[in-house]
Amino acid sequence: MTLAENLQAVRERIDAAARAAGRDPASVRLLAVSKTRPAADVRTLAGLGQRDFAENRVQELSGKAADLADLTELRWHLVGQLQRNKAAAVVRLGAGVHSVDRVPLVEALGRAADREQRTVEVHLQVDLGGPEGELGARGGASPADVPGLADAVAEAPGLRLLGLMAVAPRGEDPEPAFARLAELAARVRADHPSAVELSAGMSGDLEAAVTAGATEVRVGTALFGARPLTSGPGE
Ligand SMILES: *Cc1c(COP(=O)(O)O)cnc(C)c1O
Repeated sequence: MTLAENLQAVRERIDAAARAAGRDPASVRLLAVSKTRPAADVRTLAGLGQRDFAENRVQELSGKAADLADLTELRWHLVGQLQRNKAAAVVRLGAGVHSVDRVPLVEALGRAADREQRTVEVHLQVDLGGPEGELGARGGASPADVPGLADAVAEAPGLRLLGLMAVAPRGEDPEPAFARLAELAARVRADHPSAVELSAGMSGDLEAAVTAGATEVRVGTALFGARPLTSGPGE
């Protein structure tokens, strides 16, 4: 399969899931997760009209963004854990941050946005728990902490709250987890009308996410093929 064929197949999956859920396919955006993939693959997909690319490490994101600086239409997103001391680097890149999960990180991003005179688009990452409901397995804030975190983002002048992001629990039916996420998203949106995005769904579960109302799906493997084993989600 070529990248073009993969892109078409993924887009068809998204569109079919949207139609089955009675939704407009154009209401679901595809984020291509290009972690571990060469910049040349990103360039190929960009040539096919793909605009949004996601990475899970700041260093890899800055390297690729620099290699592809001529493609000014690209939008970059960080979906992996972010350390406070790298907040300024992400802000300078103009990337969206989908993995905000604690107040000190909100503060660091807010300070960096202020210094750089930029607006940073933020998703709060929610921990949907594991098979036994245990938290902490894949990063993210516990659902109970999300409303307060949303308020903290809203109070930071340089940050714009776009919505929530989550990874489905491993080894569990994603549907109830995505339903809990959608309910939490609706609560956050009631307080923060800008928080319209729901980023959920990956190669294996994008249909369940679209059914639950995802406005963004993050797809790596189904676009680019299998990654080396050491680079799974959440790293
Ligand atoms: C790697 C990754 C993805 C993509 O996962 P695939 O199963 O390869 O589609 C999505 N979201 C996050 C946070 C990731 O780290």
